[in-house]
Amino acid sequence: MTTEWIRRTYRVLLVLLVCSLAAAVPAAAGSSPSEGARPTVVLVILDGCAAYSLDLLPSEAYLRQAAAEGFYQHVRTVFPSSTAAGHAAILTGKWPDENGVTGKQFMGSDGTLNGFSSPQLLEAPTVIERAAKAGLRTAFISGKEGVRSLFGEDADLAVSPASVPSWVLEEVGPPPDESTQYEDYCGWYEKLDRWVIDVAGAFVKEAGPGAFIVLNLAGPDKVGHRFGPVPAPETTQCLISVGEALRGLTGVLEEVAREDWAVVVTADHGMTSVSKAIVPSELFGGIADDGLAYSLDGGVLYAWPTPTTEEAVVSALKGAEGVAEVITTSDERRALLHASHPRSAPIIAIARQGYMFTESSAFMEYTKGSHGTLLDTDVMVPLMVYGPQAVKTGIGISEIGDTVEIAGVLAELLGGLGD
Ligand SMILES: [Zn+2]
Repeated sequence: MTTEWIRRTYRVLLVLLVCSLAAAVPAAAGSSPSEGARPTVVLVILDGCAAYSLDLLPSEAYLRQAAAEGFYQHVRTVFPSSTAAGHAAILTGKWPDENGVTGKQFMGSDGTLNGFSSPQLLEAPTVIERAAKAGLRTAFISGKEGVRSLFGEDADLAVSPASVPSWVLEEVGPPPDESTQYEDYCGWYEKLDRWVIDVAGAFVKEAGPGAFIVLNLAGPDKVGHRFGPVPAPETTQCLISVGEALRGLTGVLEEVAREDWAVVVTADHGMTSVSKAIVPSELFGGIADDGLAYSLDGGVLYAWPTPTTEEAVVSALKGAEGVAEVITTSDERRALLHASHPRSAPIIAIARQGYMFTESSAFMEYTKGSHGTLLDTDVMVPLMVYGPQAVKTGIGISEIGDTVEIAGVLAELLGGLGD
């Protein structure tokens, strides 16, 4: 008997159980609070939370309890395993070469490097846009302003600490004061993530049944970069704190959406312990003066050389200690990694385990975590679904292997998005 068979049988039994329970409840017209109600679904993106980090939390942590009670497994994010590309894959359900979000920066037609901060760069609709078109109330609440500016456009409510609508100030209050961030770095990010989740709770109450809310929780990423991934005590504490705030959100969902809610938890990318620097300015030396633009993204370096510097750039990277792989335009790996979009850099270098690309080795003193590579610790992220709507829809995530498939799960939980 295969595991697959057991999974399928379990799913069928679950559907039968739900159907028989539904039949056992007298369906007096209008008596059920959930009759005809539209579901409320919350997508929680734990920025920078590797799947193994979640597994290493103490068993009493809410995220571990929710994983045990709901559906839970590890899935693979896209390459590069970084914030913009990771979020775009989850929210569009498309690979980077299909949705246009290829990394941290791209070379503009004017010859300057640009970040991914404008919704005009998205080449596929987001699940937020589709939910809004399907008539659901939508919110995108982000701990990071860059993520809000890229994905928040179609949401009824779009919030980040740098963009706080007056309704949020009235209902929840302001985010933590940025000027106090370095007094207690972990505590500050715990406060920020709690604020994001509080705004979500206020929106759930205001919107009533039938809403889709996306959250970016920045703490696990920021604290993970500074102190390293779990089991670093600071990052462990951060995820425990996020879990407690999500426990509170569950209470709000039960109150407002009764039996018609689900929470999906995942991450844009993971996090790997690092201790060694690759410093491109030292590596490239005088090559940069002859025509070379490059962009650093932790475990990845993107380079745009000129025809005259290309060979020297490739050989400098290939000879560098700490570089695992250099992908050029002619490399067949490109298509496999979905890195063939015109915005993808012509040269992509990937760091070895324990190394990261950084402007100065002095940064390593206060940088213990990094991501961006193809290491399991960077690409394997959690996928968790809990709440009664997950059981009712007989949602199956056991066959899901990649984060690009999460948009389909969300559409199913939301009762179909009509496309
Ligand atoms: Zn991130």
